[in-house]
Amino acid sequence: MRDFNYHRPADVSAAAALLAKESEAKLVAGGMSLLPSMKLRLAAPSDIVDLGAVGALKGIKVEGKEVFIGAMTCHADVAANADVKRVLPALAELADGIGDPAVRHRGTIGGSIANADPAACYPAAVLGLDAVVETTKRKIPADSFFTGLFTTALEPGEIVTGVRFKAPDKAKYMKLRHPASGFAVVGVMVAKYGSNVRVAVTGAGPSAFRVAAMEKALSANFSAKAIEGITIPHADLMSDIHFSGEYRANAVAVMARRAVAAMG
Ligand SMILES: Cc1cc2nc3c(=O)[nH]c(=O)nc-3n(C[C@H](O)[C@H](O)[C@H](O)COP(=O)(O)OP(=O)(O)OC[C@H]3O[C@@H](n4cnc5c(N)ncnc54)[C@H](O)[C@@H]3O)c2cc1C
Repeated sequence: MRDFNYHRPADVSAAAALLAKESEAKLVAGGMSLLPSMKLRLAAPSDIVDLGAVGALKGIKVEGKEVFIGAMTCHADVAANADVKRVLPALAELADGIGDPAVRHRGTIGGSIANADPAACYPAAVLGLDAVVETTKRKIPADSFFTGLFTTALEPGEIVTGVRFKAPDKAKYMKLRHPASGFAVVGVMVAKYGSNVRVAVTGAGPSAFRVAAMEKALSANFSAKAIEGITIPHADLMSDIHFSGEYRANAVAVMARRAVAAMG
């Protein structure tokens, strides 16, 4: 790991000022993704701006069907929150299935979505639950947030302040868990809002995506049978030594059917 300057601002505007001043500075939230990449020298920031003391970025607010999660809220807090469990249980379950207890107590929702790891779970929730990502500069709808492999619509110096979810009538996240890390080989969030259904996939492609054919079929007939014949083209999916694109495409179909079946 290379040397760096360490900063621990007390509020968001001080953090933003540090990012604006140091062009090679990087935010750190839980450090669960950034620190390993620094150790591997895939990232070598001149300055680390630690958001750990910015209390305003931490916490959960549930009002009616709206669930707001502050960027610095760790996965374990989302998983354990009684209001989230009541209004949006699929999100609490997703958070509870991330990595292991150490990762869940350090990793944050802001860090996870800003990092946009193709195998991360939260991107499926953000897209599937029609969320809005709030930042120091604007509000970004889920459909335009994830732009590619480890890339998002965030501009340099822009800080995620929180994510606002709309609780659906019902939702379910189904993950084929990587046996070593817990990351999603494939994860599918299915959410039903009245007669509209959203289906969002993570783990399979370079970034999370929605499956329009499944959404249309489920909006007409909300049953696992309705999506039985729908296949996912695998040419653009990720292939690695563990799982081929073809395997992942099949897993998307299976996980989507299981999610719908589990919702009854
Ligand atoms: C062993 C292991 C298993 C894991 N398993 C899973 C899993 O099953 N599912 C899953 O979804 N994830 C998994 N993760 C990832 C984990 O969820 C981390 O929480 C996530 O990758 C990053 O969150 P963080 O808070 O640690 O971010 P950091 O590592 O601190 O930061 C990540 C990136 O986001 C940027 N950033 C951080 N906060 C902000 C902000 N507020 N605004 C703008 N940019 C910001 C940083 O500059 C950095 O580039 C796993 C990680 C490990 C190490």
